[in-house]
Amino acid sequence: MTAHALNQSSPLAPDWLAVPSDLNALHPPMWAAGVERNDDGELAVDGIPVSTLKEQFGTPLFVMGESDFRARARAFKDAFDDAFADICGGVDVYYAGKSFLCTAVATWVAEEGLRLDTCSGGELAVAARAGIDGANLSLHGNNKSDAEINRGLDMKLGRIVVDSLDELERVAKIASSRGETAKVMLRLTPGVHAHTHEFIATAHEDQKFGLSMAEDSTDQAGLSAAEEAVAAATSYPGIELLGLHCHIGSQIFEPDGFALAAEKLLGFLAVMQQKYSIQLPELDLGGGYGIAYTPVDTPRPAAEIAQAMAAVVRSKCAELGISAPRISIEPGRAIVGSSTFTLYEVGTLKTVRVDAPAAGTAGAAGDQPKNVTYPRRYVSVDGGMSDNARPVLYDADYSAIVASRSSAAAPQLSRVVGKHCESGDIVVRDVYLPEDVAAGDLLAVPGTGAYCWALSSNYNYLARPGVVAVRGGAARLIVRGETEEDLLNRDMGA
Ligand SMILES: *Cc1c(COP(=O)(O)O)cnc(C)c1O
Repeated sequence: MTAHALNQSSPLAPDWLAVPSDLNALHPPMWAAGVERNDDGELAVDGIPVSTLKEQFGTPLFVMGESDFRARARAFKDAFDDAFADICGGVDVYYAGKSFLCTAVATWVAEEGLRLDTCSGGELAVAARAGIDGANLSLHGNNKSDAEINRGLDMKLGRIVVDSLDELERVAKIASSRGETAKVMLRLTPGVHAHTHEFIATAHEDQKFGLSMAEDSTDQAGLSAAEEAVAAATSYPGIELLGLHCHIGSQIFEPDGFALAAEKLLGFLAVMQQKYSIQLPELDLGGGYGIAYTPVDTPRPAAEIAQAMAAVVRSKCAELGISAPRISIEPGRAIVGSSTFTLYEVGTLKTVRVDAPAAGTAGAAGDQPKNVTYPRRYVSVDGGMSDNARPVLYDADYSAIVASRSSAAAPQLSRVVGKHCESGDIVVRDVYLPEDVAAGDLLAVPGTGAYCWALSSNYNYLARPGVVAVRGGAARLIVRGETEEDLLNRDMGA
């Protein structure tokens, strides 16, 4: 086959995937600052070649740009502070710890002037170990245990985000029995769900999180669960009601869903303040800001989203005739996601021949001749769904490049798969890799900072990878990889 034929897109590729003009080039939105190909053609982070990282720490390995993480954290804080300066004197940014948390990261978050959002006793334990002041912590969760609520009160948390009427009563009781007052936000479901480029608005919510804002026709007074909670919170001596919270989705690119949710919550807040003669000084608009996993993802800069949200909050507050509450947000993915790539070593390769997809389905490129098959190459790496469950869980798309060297070979449609006993164990469903990829090459998958390590497992008794942070040309482990001993540690024996 000629190089020309190989450079054509494969009929098996999804429509969105273009054949890259240069397989060695990095698409900047997907990578941490400081990641580049060096003069030898090898990927390097702050000047450290990936082969050195592999030698020192092994693969698979999460490689995190510490400066990049810090810069993204600061960028969110600065952009929102700027946009909201004249509205509410700035914004409190809570990094969503569930996306990726360890002691080092909690420390960076605090050093960059952010607060930390947790949703379990375990995450609170990490925050405590990092020495984060309780006043800068929030605690989420739809099923907090009494122990977690008590721990929150022990740590004097800045806010406990209450998820249900049931929980509100429990927090009130526990706080009262301790002779204390819990600082509480109420998580509401405004009926807005956003993802990537779209949002949908519904009156009723069928989900486990939050207090519904829809009026309840079975309730005598016709009150929504949200209003019932405001009324109850106002009457409980153990509760100091700070304000309202919502979180409308994830991997969101457009600000319009956030804007609609902000309008709904501000409208509700104004009514509650008037009806119950209270002040609700805080409003949290959650996280969900999207990142680039592939070249077709086009996230907006934090400043653009911040300005759009500020415009809505400003005009809605003016319309309602209320002074703006202090705004807070909870970005996770948008801070940590692109700071990190996963480094894998390539093992087994195989090519299968596949029928052309039927006309009209994804990947069908016009009229395909009948009885013709097309190659798809499977590139196996030394990790998989145990270090990145998102493709299996959410059909998430990723991208990959050969990291240990550059290549002048032609692009070939490839599927990067893991080593687990599961045919759905896919790391990158569709990507063009150079035809000469071989066992022993290192592969880098960008955008794995959020919800990869955090969701990792020991499926098939694989040891979970470590996380290495690179800063100023030095690499250090911030979470060590597991050993075989770790894997056997909790097995109590025969
Ligand atoms: C998951 C979550 C976040 C963070 O979401 P990202 O998509 O990582 O920004 C923020 N707030 C709440 C309540 C969440 O559940």
